[in-house]
Amino acid sequence: MRSRRASIHDPTRCSRCSLRILIVEDEAELAGALRSILEREHFIVDHVESMAMAREAVLSGSYDLILLDRNLPDGEGLTLMSALRRHNSGLAVIVLSAHGEIEDRVTGLDGGADDYLVKPFAADELLARIRAIRRRPAEMGPEEIAVGALIFDLTNDEARVGTQRLDLARREMRVLSALIKRHGRTVLREVLEQAVFGFDDEIQSNTLDAHVSRLRRKLSDANANVGIHPVRGVGYLLRAIN
Ligand code: CA
Repeated sequence: MRSRRASIHDPTRCSRCSLRILIVEDEAELAGALRSILEREHFIVDHVESMAMAREAVLSGSYDLILLDRNLPDGEGLTLMSALRRHNSGLAVIVLSAHGEIEDRVTGLDGGADDYLVKPFAADELLARIRAIRRRPAEMGPEEIAVGALIFDLTNDEARVGTQRLDLARREMRVLSALIKRHGRTVLREVLEQAVFGFDDEIQSNTLDAHVSRLRRKLSDANANVGIHPVRGVGYLLRAIN
């Protein structure tokens, strides 16, 4: 890692609002170097060495950002992303990996990473990428909604579990979109029917239910940990299955 010059501090932000960062990295030397770079920027830094420890840490701490290694002793780091976001949907993830092929980076970004940095990297670049991620929420708002293991990409109308994209028909996608944007609350039947069929289509009363039941099966097959519950006579409700 090269020496650091640029400062992470963003003058438009509260200087006392320190970022909480979790390093998930099993190489002790790299983890130590990362920690000192980040602590010099006055970030609050924790370090764990495995996926299991990362899960525990995210449950007990409220992190803003995770620096995630891919080759971890207990598995592929990318498979952690949806689980981590389930507990904190505002969590940013930068993948740090020696796998630097285009395909690797695409897999990481499609899998839900906010950024992907190939090892070895310069400290300056890491800090610049963290600054870029910090600027993003204020400008763009949330781009994804995470419920259970499911991640719904609002920009591209795309649903996935981990790196696995769900193959949904157009109307199933519209049902899911309407439900997930109001997850945890009952969505009226009429609202869903309008979202799914538009105003002009003829609506048969059981068609919505058919779309919901196909969607439910696909979510269950993909282990999305998301349930769609009927609310009798009123509509449907989507929430995480615990
Ligand atoms: Ca590793």
